[in-house]
Amino acid sequence: MYWEESIETIKRDDLDKYQIKMLNILINQAKNSTFYKKRLFNYEKINSFSDFQKIPFTTKQDLRDGFPYDFLTIDIKEVVRLHSSSGTTGNPTVIFHTKNDLDEWSNLIARCMYMAGVRKEDIFQNIMSYGLFTGGIGFHYGAEKLGAMTIPIGPGNSKRQIWFMEKFKTTVVHILPSYALRLYTHLQEEGIDPKKDLSLKIAFVGAEPHTEETRRKIEELYGIKVYNSYGLSEMNGPGVAFECEYQNGMHLWEDNYYAEIINPETGEVLPDGEEGELVLTTLKRTAMPIIRYRTRDLTRIILGKCSCGRTHRKIDRIKGRSDDMLIINGVNIFPMQIEQILMKAKELGANYIIEVQKENFMDKLYIKVEINNQFFNGTLEELERLQKHIIEELKNEIGVNPIVKLVESGSLPQNEGKAVRVIDHRK
Ligand code: ADP
Ligand code: ZN
Repeated sequence: MYWEESIETIKRDDLDKYQIKMLNILINQAKNSTFYKKRLFNYEKINSFSDFQKIPFTTKQDLRDGFPYDFLTIDIKEVVRLHSSSGTTGNPTVIFHTKNDLDEWSNLIARCMYMAGVRKEDIFQNIMSYGLFTGGIGFHYGAEKLGAMTIPIGPGNSKRQIWFMEKFKTTVVHILPSYALRLYTHLQEEGIDPKKDLSLKIAFVGAEPHTEETRRKIEELYGIKVYNSYGLSEMNGPGVAFECEYQNGMHLWEDNYYAEIINPETGEVLPDGEEGELVLTTLKRTAMPIIRYRTRDLTRIILGKCSCGRTHRKIDRIKGRSDDMLIINGVNIFPMQIEQILMKAKELGANYIIEVQKENFMDKLYIKVEINNQFFNGTLEELERLQKHIIEELKNEIGVNPIVKLVESGSLPQNEGKAVRVIDHRK
């Protein structure tokens, strides 16, 4: 049941002691970098978490300003890989790894996959991008460590994806939730029913915000179990937090990361259970430790023990990034509130896009959403009824009156990487 039982079910007290020990090692290690040498020169031994919480946050801007080597703590010849996030303006964020750092990361992924029930016998089709993006390669090494046959196919080319699934009887996939929904429409076009014609059992979805409704939709369409996987390149990539078989929150691996939830406005550390921004510290990474990193991701710690026996605390599904919030005529809206409504409707299909623009000094919210092939042939009255119903539901959820356009399946722009859900023309 467990990949590493003694670590996954460690007693809370022991875990706390372990974290304090690792934080001290980390601080010493971090002082070898140009950035933290200055920042940490006042910090000697810490004896408690509240001592640690006196250290200032590290931000994405700090990482950018420190490009390329200000965060590196070791000689470059010990570095075996770099990854970089998809920054399109300014310097990208670059993360360095030693051989041991990569080993620890693979181990976390193996732990995550094992927790969801993946075993050596499984056939794993990795439908995430390979390259500088961490999603593909991260899972690749974890799956190989676990011993599952790995197909490093990457994203796109739905025909080929389906061909591999059929020929090699793929049982496990790692896929963007937005692509899982789109791939289903391709299966329909080819007349393939994944429940009968494929061998899929498990999908790992992550890398982009998605709702519980989206997860359930993918589970129903494919007849599989879908597990949420959270990570970010600054913290290696996937493998930071992951769902167990109970699918209610993601165990955050606290032997590798120290987690805090803060009020994003004041920086104050919040008690468990309250919603705020996740702040993470690497506990084991040598090449490039990062201390109190502001992820900008909004979530909360889920209170109580998990029935699976693992003691590492769970975080809730990510609600979005603090900078994702849309303000429409003064009302605050998260794109995930909209997705939640759209994914509940079985008539609606895979893709949607939210657009905001100013018209006569007022903000207007447009939502274009694709309809399922089967429903598109309905009568005009049926379509009008559906449209009215969606507008009503959305109004209740977000408190704003949207303009909803139902469009044909496959007609909205598609992205091979993470889905672009919001276009704000006011910016
Ligand atoms: P980039 O910054 O280039 O998009 P990353 O892979 O580092 O590349 O992106 C990490 C971010 O992706 C996280 O901070 C979070 O906002 C989002 N993310 C990752 N996994 C999930 C998930 N399971 N649910 C919601 N958001 C996620
Ligand atoms: Zn659990």
